[in-house]
Amino acid sequence: MEKIKIYINGREIITEKGKTILEVAKENGVEIPHLCNHPDLIPNGACRLCIVEVKGEKRPVASCCYPAYDGMEIFTETEKIKELRKMTLQLIISDHPLDCMTCEKAGECLLEKYAYEYGIKKIEYEGEKSKRKQKDGSPFIIRDYEKCILCGRCVKVCEEIVGANAIDFGFRGFQTDIISGFDQPLKETECVFCGNCVEVCPVGALREINAEGKGRSWEYKKIKTICPYCGVGCGINVYVKNNEIVKIKGDDESLVNKGFLCIKGKFGFEYVNSPDRLKKPLKRKNNDFEEINWEEAISIICQNIERTIKKYGNNSIAGLASAKCTNEENYIFQKFFRTILKTNNIDHCARLCHSSTIAGLSMTIGAGAMSNSLEEIENYSDCIILTGTNVSETQPVTSYRIRKAVEKGAKLIIIDPMEISLSDIAYLKIQQNYGTDVFLFNSIAKIIIDEKLYNEDFIRERVENFEEYLKFMEKFPIEDTEKITGVEIEKLREVAYIYSKSKASVILWAMGITQHITGTENVISLSNLALLTGQIGKKGAGLCPLRGQNNVQGACDMGALPNFYPGYFPVEDEDTIKYFKEKWQADDLPNRNGLTVVEIFENILKDEIKFLYIMGENPLVSDPDIKHVEEALKKINFLVVQDIFLTETAKYADIILPASCSFEKEGTFTNTERRVQKISKCVEAPGQAEDDWKIINKLAENFGYIWNYKDVWDILREINEVLPQYKGITPERVKKGEKIQWPCPSENHPGTETLHTTGFKTKSEKGKLIPVEFKHAYELPDNDYPFILTTGRIREHYHSRTMTGRVKGINEIVGDDFCFINEEDAKRLKLKDGDYVKVYSRRAKLKIKVKISDRIKKGVIFIPFHFYANLLTHNKLDPYSKIPEFKICACNIEKL
Ligand code: SF4
Ligand code: SF4
Ligand code: SF4
Repeated sequence: MEKIKIYINGREIITEKGKTILEVAKENGVEIPHLCNHPDLIPNGACRLCIVEVKGEKRPVASCCYPAYDGMEIFTETEKIKELRKMTLQLIISDHPLDCMTCEKAGECLLEKYAYEYGIKKIEYEGEKSKRKQKDGSPFIIRDYEKCILCGRCVKVCEEIVGANAIDFGFRGFQTDIISGFDQPLKETECVFCGNCVEVCPVGALREINAEGKGRSWEYKKIKTICPYCGVGCGINVYVKNNEIVKIKGDDESLVNKGFLCIKGKFGFEYVNSPDRLKKPLKRKNNDFEEINWEEAISIICQNIERTIKKYGNNSIAGLASAKCTNEENYIFQKFFRTILKTNNIDHCARLCHSSTIAGLSMTIGAGAMSNSLEEIENYSDCIILTGTNVSETQPVTSYRIRKAVEKGAKLIIIDPMEISLSDIAYLKIQQNYGTDVFLFNSIAKIIIDEKLYNEDFIRERVENFEEYLKFMEKFPIEDTEKITGVEIEKLREVAYIYSKSKASVILWAMGITQHITGTENVISLSNLALLTGQIGKKGAGLCPLRGQNNVQGACDMGALPNFYPGYFPVEDEDTIKYFKEKWQADDLPNRNGLTVVEIFENILKDEIKFLYIMGENPLVSDPDIKHVEEALKKINFLVVQDIFLTETAKYADIILPASCSFEKEGTFTNTERRVQKISKCVEAPGQAEDDWKIINKLAENFGYIWNYKDVWDILREINEVLPQYKGITPERVKKGEKIQWPCPSENHPGTETLHTTGFKTKSEKGKLIPVEFKHAYELPDNDYPFILTTGRIREHYHSRTMTGRVKGINEIVGDDFCFINEEDAKRLKLKDGDYVKVYSRRAKLKIKVKISDRIKKGVIFIPFHFYANLLTHNKLDPYSKIPEFKICACNIEKL
């Protein structure tokens, strides 16, 4: 970046060319008032409050739009400027209600602040007032446009960041107003209820319904923590009064989300105060539950564990940890199972989302985590391949960052059978046939090889198995590409060229790639592309699996997996057992891989597993073929469920333990970018609900193991000792607000933003090219079941809806199960939007509402997995990772 020297109010400042005056002023602590400008939105100089004088310019300039140049002399506070700003404020206020004493935004409103600072005490300009009025039709947002100052921030955030384009300026002149399409209620528009318009509105025109009448801004306690929902790990500020969360705002200081949120993070907190929260331990009594005290609950559980182990052995016990719980809780959970119950039968729902990523990347590059940060993707990647992820639904804030990257010049290539929300800004869109990913990525690799687009130096220095891979590729039938994948070869050639020739290319994927019986092979085929072209190990280039739940990365890191001890030490390795025996002072540790999620339920039905402990998971909604899961839950000898609600699964439990949620405790979550972030206690847990780690600690004590953890930070200290990747991520650093990306090998280490910059994490430190053969999905359409059923997430709901299903506003938007069906199929079946159909597979049937969508291919039905789609899916597994094939099964549909 070229450096320039400028002067602000006589002060010399060295800065970079390309920045605006306002940006340089802000960075150097010089305050220039502004209403329409926002650091993440394209400036348009609408409010004229940020005017400054520049030597040599005849008229004042808008500092938000005016670039600084070398030698520039700027004056921000001259008498002339102050007078002009005062006049601007007078004009704005002349058309603004003066009800600051009762306005909910008082104390936070920028107009109020500047009016005070510029000494505006009365209205100077009388005359006609605009007729903007309050608009309704939103379950979350008050749109009080009488207070609107037409700054345009809301319109810009909706278009530039969110991409929803739900609102715009409407009408003209004095009638100008902010309207949604055809001035309809927001609910009827493209609005995704992210609340970012509320976040950026500088005045009281847009406000949160939830917070209305709850108190004044200065009465709230404001606590920084992390969103409890998806793997992005957005920073949030929680506003609390009288032990109640009143509202949530995005944390502007968070490197992850820069203050922006999605519907769940912004509005999805009502569940915390839900009357349904579990408040006391419960014991099954006939077909109901009775309240018991903690001592009795712990004692019953321990007696049953002892009895089961004595009669059936240690491996008759299994446990499901939770990607919703903290690192410390997952760590202590697996430690309890391994050191006290002596079994590796511990798993969690990472098995159902990215286990194939971990398996595939472990084979090729030795580490399954995202190799780059979101910041890198926005600012360094010039080619972004998105495949098998409708990221606007699954990680909305990541989609904002991708949108920004495209605005900054990156080429976005979307490879997905479904047309996804970001398709409108894609440079290239490729809609392959379902289940043909390996063939498609092999075809791209073949083009890279045949047309010599590969990176010879990189392969020579950092890659092994190239010769064998070439031999495999020589015989690869690229001529069948179009027949199998449905994609023209010329399109793939374009992808091959853009991907290999860009300065930094990154591939992002999620469950569209992983949830197949070939999930591991799909991931390997992506890894092959990165290794062939050297598009990994540098800023903005790499392989980035987008993780689903808030702490799924952390739960994996902590060893809540049947085949890895914490820190990805393989279970079946003598050195691992030696290492952990020493770290945990344990005489004996289980050294055989345990059972995975789906295998646990299979083995209950086979009478092998007799006791199951579930911490914060709801397999009766989230697992495949849930009738099968239900049979297992009915059959199990003893089931313990530790959760915040009486979930579908908990209804089958013998003992239910009430747990606290993430707003009620401390600890750390690790986000999709490997960033370890502190969560803070905002409110007290209801009744006798306890932190999950305390419950496990009580169980350990009952077995006579005194671990001496005073608080959760003692567990993190032990994690620092045990996990090399977390060594330097100490309680002191996280409490100071550092958000470090692992690996962090020492207390002075800043953390690692980009992985694989030198060696890979394999034994040879080289990446391995692995040939992968194409195989079809397990269950393809036939005459009886002619449709493909595919499942996935939607942005409004989270996992099995235990939390989002208790948010009234979210239920108002998506309260019921539905399926998407293509227009042509709908026409053939004489279906219209809102009709009810029966969708059935070989496992079960579902009565469901139809939504017609041109985003879905002909012959395909999409059902969100949050409701009961898993009645229909099958439980055949990828042999390497044991992930089920949620993404493809055969089904049929009938009009009801
Ligand atoms: S809530 Fe989000 S999508 Fe809706 S109008 Fe506001 S910014 Fe746009
Ligand atoms: S509603 Fe708020 S953000 Fe939108 S134009 Fe009006 S004042 Fe600006
Ligand atoms: S993107 Fe994810 S982490 Fe961010 S607010 Fe939404 S749900 Fe929360």
